[in-house]
Amino acid sequence: MEKGLLIVISGPSGAGKGTIYGAVTERLPSLRKSISVTTRAPRPGEKNGVHYHFRTVEEYRAMKARGEFLETAEVYKNFYGTPAAPVFEILSHGQDVMFEIDIEGAKQIKAKYPECVSIFIMPPSFEILEQRLRGRGTESEESLSTRLGSARQELAQYDRFDYIVFNDDAALATQRVIDIISAERCKVSRNEQTIQKILNEKSEI
Ligand code: 5GP
Repeated sequence: MEKGLLIVISGPSGAGKGTIYGAVTERLPSLRKSISVTTRAPRPGEKNGVHYHFRTVEEYRAMKARGEFLETAEVYKNFYGTPAAPVFEILSHGQDVMFEIDIEGAKQIKAKYPECVSIFIMPPSFEILEQRLRGRGTESEESLSTRLGSARQELAQYDRFDYIVFNDDAALATQRVIDIISAERCKVSRNEQTIQKILNEKSEI
């Protein structure tokens, strides 16, 4: 069986990666989601084991010390990590898995697992990124200026990714991500076993 695709979607805060991730996983139900571990407190409506595995800092550190994460990052004073075992389990069953993570984590995954498909979500302008962050209304002025400062540095890291998707319009950007996934599934290198099976089939005549 061919291994599944590991798809990483990333970009600065306010680029809209969360919205696109939600829309893509809804439109492609066969795509499995990775559930991250985080030390941040759950927001209203968030469920443990569904949106995140919410853990204490001590629990997170113990998991990290046991080498249980594929990647980890500190994002705005909270720790996040992708548990490795469920991801490799999904891939070994030929299923595709997608994560939405920060840029540091995305770089770690590319280094460990170069065949992953990494997609950078780019805002159409810095002004729009700022408007989106302000429009959320969830950030304090302090947190907003931290996020805007790191967004500038993060935007400059686009060249570490395989693909760039401009999020000028969420529906169009979602379609672009779906198109990338379809094209990646058709790559010769990802279909060698199936091709060999067909080539080795015995003919009736
Ligand atoms: P939030 O706390 O708003 O859900 O997420 C904050 C940031 O953490 C987002 O940029 C999100 O992409 C990132 N994030 C969520 N889960 C993970 C993870 O497992 N690893 C890394 N590196 N970043 C994550």
